[in-house]
Amino acid sequence: MISLPSSFKDFYEMEPHKFQNKTNGITPRRWLVMCNPGLAEVIAERIGEDFIRDLDQLKRLRDFVNDDAFIRDIAKVKQENKLKFAVHLEEHYKVKINPNSMFDVQVKRIHEYKRQLLNCLHIITYYNRIKKEPNKQWTPRTIMIGGKAAPGYHTAKMIIRLITAIGEVVNHDPVVGDRLKVIFLENYRVTLAEKAIPASDLSEQISTAGTEASGTGNMKFMLNGALTIGTMDGANVEMAEEAGDGNLFIFGMRVEDVDALDKKGYHAEEYYNRLPELKQAIDQIANGYFSPKQPDLFKEIVNMLMHHDRYRKTELFHLSIYLSIYLSIYLSIYLSI
Ligand SMILES: *Cc1c(COP(=O)(O)O)cnc(C)c1O
Repeated sequence: MISLPSSFKDFYEMEPHKFQNKTNGITPRRWLVMCNPGLAEVIAERIGEDFIRDLDQLKRLRDFVNDDAFIRDIAKVKQENKLKFAVHLEEHYKVKINPNSMFDVQVKRIHEYKRQLLNCLHIITYYNRIKKEPNKQWTPRTIMIGGKAAPGYHTAKMIIRLITAIGEVVNHDPVVGDRLKVIFLENYRVTLAEKAIPASDLSEQISTAGTEASGTGNMKFMLNGALTIGTMDGANVEMAEEAGDGNLFIFGMRVEDVDALDKKGYHAEEYYNRLPELKQAIDQIANGYFSPKQPDLFKEIVNMLMHHDRYRKTELFHLSIYLSIYLSIYLSIYLSI
């Protein structure tokens, strides 16, 4: 989908013929056949190997949507990939994770527009909810966030620091146990992506509408059978068109809504005052709940969120939560196949 560009706007108005759109793509050789041989094999058993050169052939799998043996084979491959990735994490990062939990993964460069902070707000809220009602049935989750910060991008480095700080508190809370773990995947790169993506249940593609040119991570996850929770941004839009929006969990504002909100004026305080769970999460970041030795460690992050957030994290917050809860139910069924 092409929305009128704001970058190069004058140039585009003067010489529109010099502009054309090519949405990025990924190679199915690397991102399916090589990194997930188990899944490629299960597919080839049903529809042959032509899909390797002609991905449209995957449509033929529609004939198997209600085929129990096929669904079981797919689920088995996913579980094997999860076990393998769990072993890898234990070896390389010395962390123990529950391979029966939902692997909820956001891996991409750390950037404000990609909104790892929205994910953080969600994690904190999920944590607070478990603490409040520890006896309720919670779908166990392992939330992994990975990615590099550009060397001079201070805010991105503070976002990484926040993710690890949240992990330190959540991962050692006995009330929570193995129902929620937060892992920062260090040194995210293609070789790690090739292991993480085939093992993922849930793909986080939550950038502010109108900011992601295309995204390719979104495609890699979908090709490996992860469900997507995402916004109408970048290639998520085309993915929703192709897969049908019943097969992605879309939430939040569209480009037009973002533009309208920009005109009206965005005030984080309104959401902060209106949503008690959001207020609690932001207050915890602000008062050192996750950084007891350095209570003001995240004051810049909080200041940014409350006063000059260009990417409107709080606006989408309540919707993101709503959908995650829905997903927990959905995935708990899916995980118990
Ligand atoms: C695919 C890929 C990306 C791009 O991910 P997006 O979610 O589209 O930003 C970045 N880094 C690595 C290592 C990748 O494999």
